Amino acid sequence: MVNINNKIGGAVMAVALSTSMMVMAKENKNFNYVADRFADIEVLRYEVPGFNDLSLNQKKLIYYLTEAALMGRDILWDQNNKYNLELRQLLENIYTSYSGDKNGKEFKAFEKYLKQIWFGNGIHHHYSMDKFVPEFSESFLRSAIKSLPASKRPANADLMIKVVFDPEFVAKRVNQAEGADLIVTSANNLYDGVTQSEVENYYNAMKDSTDLTPVSYGLNSRVVKENGKVVEQTYKVGGLYSNAISKIIENLSEAVKYAENDKQRNVINKLIEYYTTGNLKAFDDYSIMWVEDTDSKVDFINGFIESYGDPLGMTGAWESIVNFKNDEASHRTEVISENAQWFEDNSPVDSRFKKDKVKGVSAKVITAAILAGDAYPATPIGINLPNANWIRAAHGSKSVTIENITEAYDEASHGNGFNEEFVIDKPTAKLLDDYLFITDNLHTDLHECLGHGSGKMLPGVDPDALKAHGSTLEEARADLFALYYLADPKLVELGLLDNKDAYKAEYYKYLLNGLMTQLMRIEPGKDVEEAHMRNRKLISEWVFEKGKPDNVVEYVVRNGKTYIQINDYEKLRGLFGRLLSEIQRIKSEGDYEAGRDLVEKYAVKVDPKLHNEVLERYSHLSIAPYRGFVNPVYVPVKDANGNITDVKITYGEGYADQMLRYSRDYSPLTK
Ligand code: ZN
Repeated sequence: MVNINNKIGGAVMAVALSTSMMVMAKENKNFNYVADRFADIEVLRYEVPGFNDLSLNQKKLIYYLTEAALMGRDILWDQNNKYNLELRQLLENIYTSYSGDKNGKEFKAFEKYLKQIWFGNGIHHHYSMDKFVPEFSESFLRSAIKSLPASKRPANADLMIKVVFDPEFVAKRVNQAEGADLIVTSANNLYDGVTQSEVENYYNAMKDSTDLTPVSYGLNSRVVKENGKVVEQTYKVGGLYSNAISKIIENLSEAVKYAENDKQRNVINKLIEYYTTGNLKAFDDYSIMWVEDTDSKVDFINGFIESYGDPLGMTGAWESIVNFKNDEASHRTEVISENAQWFEDNSPVDSRFKKDKVKGVSAKVITAAILAGDAYPATPIGINLPNANWIRAAHGSKSVTIENITEAYDEASHGNGFNEEFVIDKPTAKLLDDYLFITDNLHTDLHECLGHGSGKMLPGVDPDALKAHGSTLEEARADLFALYYLADPKLVELGLLDNKDAYKAEYYKYLLNGLMTQLMRIEPGKDVEEAHMRNRKLISEWVFEKGKPDNVVEYVVRNGKTYIQINDYEKLRGLFGRLLSEIQRIKSEGDYEAGRDLVEKYAVKVDPKLHNEVLERYSHLSIAPYRGFVNPVYVPVKDANGNITDVKITYGEGYADQMLRYSRDYSPLTK
């Protein structure tokens, strides 16, 4: 599971920085954080501090793991929609060979569209899941296609034009609308030619409720109908995505030569076995070996991992993150982990749903070296894996906070005008200035280290019982655990905070975001769809409503502008605890109806008046609603015999240059 950046409003354009700050940033950091800005997106760069201090073997290991990471890019594109790769190739061919006016309105709009598609890993917005709307004309695209050399003209130009211009065609990547056939109405490529009930029947026939160690059904396959029969096409060597998977394996096989120890060597070899066979049992074995390797400095994720892109929450989107431990910053998460049992025992959850023994919650702060697949360009700031419930219960989970990413967000956010516009008063703004960075990081640590790993299912409860609402409720559970404990004196006692009121910074920002400012990401008239946004809205709206009798939280209108005011922080904490207890019950018992009711009532519908106001106020700030990253470039230095003697890292690559290079050098499925 992932924790994506919830510092909405933290985004900033270079132009929003004051001149003095830009100079300061240059002098102090000598680092240019902003790589590009278009549509609702800002693309940043991140530094990889500590890379040059690694040993040569560790650098080689990281180098080959980053190559393995980049080789999977096309898999995700194809998973997202079956036309993505063909369209990307067409648009890039036009972009690189265009001989007309590159400053003309049509070409600029075309370029913006291509940049959006690169960012979404396909034709749909990475967050809203809606298809991008082109601002250039159909005739522009038709004549650009005609100008291509014959060898680069697509065989089915009309279909490509339909993909771009027909708003009804493959309109939404993941549809979560209650009552619809979620498979038929979703445009992802995880299923083809099958209905939701056919898929559900197919998997139900496979599931055995007495199996205490079930594989993650459907994690690595596409479900289609062949000769009237529902079948899985497995992602593996010789199966679906074979060419890309073979390239991944090739680089993993190089990486394994530089493994730091036997445990890590076994992890990589097991992953190769899984990719070769497609056997989900091998993936479980790999996950267990991976979670138990806590000594290696270098670590990585590479596989079909998160299932947010599947409306049924089964198939994993391909992703990879290569990273190494930040030893100094990891002290914070180690303290939290060492006290995991205390947190579990003292939570407001019913004792029937608590773990008697919280096992192996390992936590560390890491430095990302590369982001790929579903983690690129938009990326999580915290990760907790593996996702299989029984493995988490029996072997624990590995939890990380990606601090060079949160630092880049923070550095790029200073002085963007957000607090002045939306925070109710100066004392509250000062509270945020003083304590938001640390409490936000702690919130992520608690969410990932403890939140997802806490609690237990009652025996026999289907882990997929909450169906389409499972992701939202799971994120809410982890967030509530973190919110509840942020205010606990235990954090001061453990030396993690130096002020018992520090938590108020995160509480204020959380409600401001959940009730108001995250609406800037939603188009007028649309519902909230994405699981993390739904989770924040659910929590915020619920505590607002339940706190009404005591006026815990209120909306205050000043000069026609709406603000959030928190009147009683202690009672607010109590409400977080109550909701945590209820959502844990829902998860432990698999109470689908209660979960659905919470989501439908609190997490989806938007107040149009408040929504318009938020959009209007944001429009004056030129803050990008979404941010992502370009990767650094790793270049091996070789001696006369071709041996790698060092790996150099550079940061200067532009966004479009990086995308075009990846399409050229790491595109095993389009050649
Ligand atoms: Zn999470």
